[in-house]
Amino acid sequence: MGRQRAHRRSRDRCSHDGAPRPYSPRYPRALCAGCAGRATDLAGRPVRMGNTGFSGGFKAVHADDGSDCRQVTDDGRVLIDGVEYRAGEAHMGGIVVQAEA
Ligand SMILES: [Zn+2]
Repeated sequence: MGRQRAHRRSRDRCSHDGAPRPYSPRYPRALCAGCAGRATDLAGRPVRMGNTGFSGGFKAVHADDGSDCRQVTDDGRVLIDGVEYRAGEAHMGGIVVQAEA
């Protein structure tokens, strides 16, 4: 208590490129949609991420041919401009990409 927020001024900005984004109390380190859209798997291959169904679930496919990306689906590790982030299912559906805690 009483400690100043170290990152107060960046709370509504993407932690990767500083682009404005809606502040999310649940995901304060979440990246903006633009960065999430540049995500690749650890081999550098672009991926698209989404929910597996209406009830949620997380799935990644390769953006070029739509084939399953087992690596990202299994461990959620993605690269954005060469920096590793963790992608996964968001609490209320959708996908969140954020720095690891
Ligand atoms: Zn960004």
